[in-house]
Amino acid sequence: MSVRTVTQEELEEQRLYAQKVQSMLHIMLEKPLAYVHSYGCQQNVSDGERIKGMLVEMGYGLTDNMDEAKVIIFNTCAVRENAVERVFGNVGALKNLKKRSPDLIVAVCGCMVQQEETAKRLQKTFPFVDIIFGTHVLHTLPYLLFSVLFQGGRILEIPESDGVIAEGLPVCRESKIKASVPIMYGCNNFCTYCVVPYVRGRERSRSPQMIIDEVKTLIADGCKDILLLGQNVNSYGKGTDVDFPELLKRLDELDGDFRIEFMTSHPKDCTERLVDVIADSRHICYHLHLPVQCGSDRILKVMNRHYTVEHYLQLVDYARKRIPYLNLTTDIIVGFPGETREDFQQTLELMKRVRFDSAFTFIFSPRHGTKAEKMEDPVSAEEKGKWFRELLDVQSKCGEDSYQKYIGQTVRVLCEGKGRTSSEYYTGKSRQNIIVDFNGCESDIGTFADVKITKALPWALIGEKIN
Ligand code: SF4
Repeated sequence: MSVRTVTQEELEEQRLYAQKVQSMLHIMLEKPLAYVHSYGCQQNVSDGERIKGMLVEMGYGLTDNMDEAKVIIFNTCAVRENAVERVFGNVGALKNLKKRSPDLIVAVCGCMVQQEETAKRLQKTFPFVDIIFGTHVLHTLPYLLFSVLFQGGRILEIPESDGVIAEGLPVCRESKIKASVPIMYGCNNFCTYCVVPYVRGRERSRSPQMIIDEVKTLIADGCKDILLLGQNVNSYGKGTDVDFPELLKRLDELDGDFRIEFMTSHPKDCTERLVDVIADSRHICYHLHLPVQCGSDRILKVMNRHYTVEHYLQLVDYARKRIPYLNLTTDIIVGFPGETREDFQQTLELMKRVRFDSAFTFIFSPRHGTKAEKMEDPVSAEEKGKWFRELLDVQSKCGEDSYQKYIGQTVRVLCEGKGRTSSEYYTGKSRQNIIVDFNGCESDIGTFADVKITKALPWALIGEKIN
């Protein structure tokens, strides 16, 4: 198996299927509607925007109301906890809807169905599901829909593959102000707790020129906040002559009033050169989400993370020195199989030493098909719960005052809509990616405003607009 780029001929074939579906839908009195729900991470939301784009190309309108839809697609996630149960529950709830409207088409796709066992269980449990398709055949949705509409029957399409790159799919974006741009897909790291390499395939990077062209178009269309997406953006560029810092630099050179963010970083591939590019940039957010996962080298090794705490600290110290107003955030897993109180103590020490601006903390729960699922895990759930609360305590003390330094500062805020702390305010994000509520007005939405910070909450800033 190998990674493959979908050819223009294949995409043209899909466009022809889309036209066939469109001409069939044309004869209907009312434009048929489609409902798409994407679970999980930004990558899935981005796939969902492409699914919607293809549906619109086929002649469907989009709806948020399942009851009026002629096509319902659940774009699933296998990464989040209890994801499988939730999807099974939601799909099961469609049974009556399908009974009422037998011509309704139900499709399930995404990471969860890429696990063959789960896909087959889904197919067996819910005979009314018409299409089940994996992450590597997303671009063939027009063909899949055409087949069910014209030939009937059910389709299970999960070909074995290391992954594909499909350029030029239509996209129906959720927002005009913000957009996500995948720069790479899949992952080669095989952290022992993670399903991503199994369900998203091997790491593959899009061509730098394709990314630059897409970002240029977004800027020309008025987009102000561009999120570059990848499971490990720091290893972007294998097979091209541009690595991630260089890609960022080239994007930063583009003209316009916009911001660039990226996620997710991996400490083993994140470099001082990347930090320098951010520090010297015009458009790149001063936000680094750098998942450390644990403060014990022993456990990091069992997790297959390929860095040490010392390396992590060096990187963080350098980043804080180069970018004084850096927003540093992380992910931490508590109670990994084999983790002892001593290992956990080291995580607490790391938290106190780094003082993250915010941290996403999780109690370990095994993901199906990963190595960690089979590891011995002697620590009780109760004990892990205790550790978890201890960690939250330390983090909330560290995070509590981390935004105080912004009081009296003027920050540039991209206004996104109505306030989060009060409906009298408008809200947006600073260059650090921190929520800022301020006394704006409707016409501020989609523009940048200078805001003087008057108050800091642990999760947001409040201020007054000064221009
Ligand atoms: S780097 Fe590790 S945690 Fe991140 S997607 Fe790859 S395997 Fe999963």
